[in-house]
Amino acid sequence: MADPGRFETTPGGYGDLPRSADVVVIGGGVTGASTAFQLAKRGVGVTLLEQRELGAGATGKSGALVRAHYTNPVETALTLESLRIFAAWDEVVGAGSPRFEAVGFVQVVAPEDEPHLRANVAAHQALGVETAVVSAADLAEIEPLMRTDDLTHVAFEPKSGYADPLGTLYGFAAAATRHGASVREGTAATAIATDPRGRVVGVDTTRGRIATESVVLAGGAWANRLLAPLGVDLGLTPRRIQVVVFRWPRGVDQGRRHRVVIDATTHAWFRPEGATGTVIGVETGGRTCEPDGYGETADAAYVDAARAALAHRFPAFAHATMRGAWAGMIMMSVDSRPLIGPVPEVPGLYVIAGDSGTSFKTAPAIGVCLAELLTEGTASPVDLTPFRPSRFAEGLPWRDEHTYGGVEEHLLTISR
Ligand SMILES: Cc1cc2nc3c(=O)[nH]c(=O)nc-3n(C[C@H](O)[C@H](O)[C@H](O)COP(=O)(O)OP(=O)(O)OC[C@H]3O[C@@H](n4cnc5c(N)ncnc54)[C@H](O)[C@@H]3O)c2cc1C
Repeated sequence: MADPGRFETTPGGYGDLPRSADVVVIGGGVTGASTAFQLAKRGVGVTLLEQRELGAGATGKSGALVRAHYTNPVETALTLESLRIFAAWDEVVGAGSPRFEAVGFVQVVAPEDEPHLRANVAAHQALGVETAVVSAADLAEIEPLMRTDDLTHVAFEPKSGYADPLGTLYGFAAAATRHGASVREGTAATAIATDPRGRVVGVDTTRGRIATESVVLAGGAWANRLLAPLGVDLGLTPRRIQVVVFRWPRGVDQGRRHRVVIDATTHAWFRPEGATGTVIGVETGGRTCEPDGYGETADAAYVDAARAALAHRFPAFAHATMRGAWAGMIMMSVDSRPLIGPVPEVPGLYVIAGDSGTSFKTAPAIGVCLAELLTEGTASPVDLTPFRPSRFAEGLPWRDEHTYGGVEEHLLTISR
């Protein structure tokens, strides 16, 4: 596997920071790196800025579930495109590895949500996702750890799973540099500079200005700091969320990796972590907080809530030993769906923002879509119109028809 490579970090001073670029990408997380790679591959002169080090934001904390099951077909289409890239990583990206683990994915829903489940699965199948509605009896064979007595049917995707978020990010960054992109860690964008007509003319950084007419802001939970001075309010709220790792108890088959699960009955997700652990995130009402200086360790009460949610679906974990936990920052949008595309008030500015903790799996496709949007004016793999940042100003926030538990996802704060 290719060496993920090293990235220019010349802290302090202007150094050899490019003085101009076709496009400046702000944010060294997985969506910024994917976009920088896809732009550089198309011959665009890109500079990627990261204020700390690559993966310092949500990407470095991600659960990195990769599943096609959504309650709308648009995000499923983005995931499908990403799955193609994960599957052909060496040919398409050619650096690093996402270490994709196709252990299979189960979407658990309450019996009363079965009609919604069937509608969603039918939509996914129409898009070409390998997925099926399976009975609780069949589920017991698909995942022997699973409690099924409170279920009738679930969805099963045999080819979904999880990946290594930093391996994925490092691969994109290394591939971007190979195609000529300049990737700068330890370099914060301090302002997006505009001319009197409000058009982008540059990016001010801690190491000087880069002249550019195009900026992709992929700043995760920090995005508002660059948007607010431009008078742009996209309704984005930074939020702290948590995860816990439990050791597999004695009696659990230590030689088999269990399936990835999203359980809509407990608002939890979980997947294998390492060789003998399970990582879980569960909805407990995440809290709004500033992204700098947030508490990076999980709260004690959260550990108990996570164990209870895990044990509800995998009873063998009722007394599982907690082995670690962490918190990360995500950016919520008003309707919990990502904003991807141009910001009309600031010509030349594009965002991937407010993904509400769901854009690891879709990052490979987001990069393709944004690169095409900037170079060709339209995105071919997936129509980005539903993701347009202007939807709130238009009074048209996103609503899904077939949600689970009657809960709009914007009320949930678990990332998956
Ligand atoms: C605990 C947790 C679990 C998750 N689980 C999943 C999951 O299972 N599946 C899934 O698909 N998604 C999941 N997510 C969400 C996913 O990780 C994020 O959607 C994704 O990583 C976002 O990537 P990003 O590049 O947009 O943002 P980030 O990774 O947050 O990167 C933004 C970067 O921008 C940098 N930055 C900000 N401002 C500036 C500036 N002014 N100048 C320079 N740099 C700047 C930051 O330092 C940061 O590194 C999870 C997230 C968390 C926290």
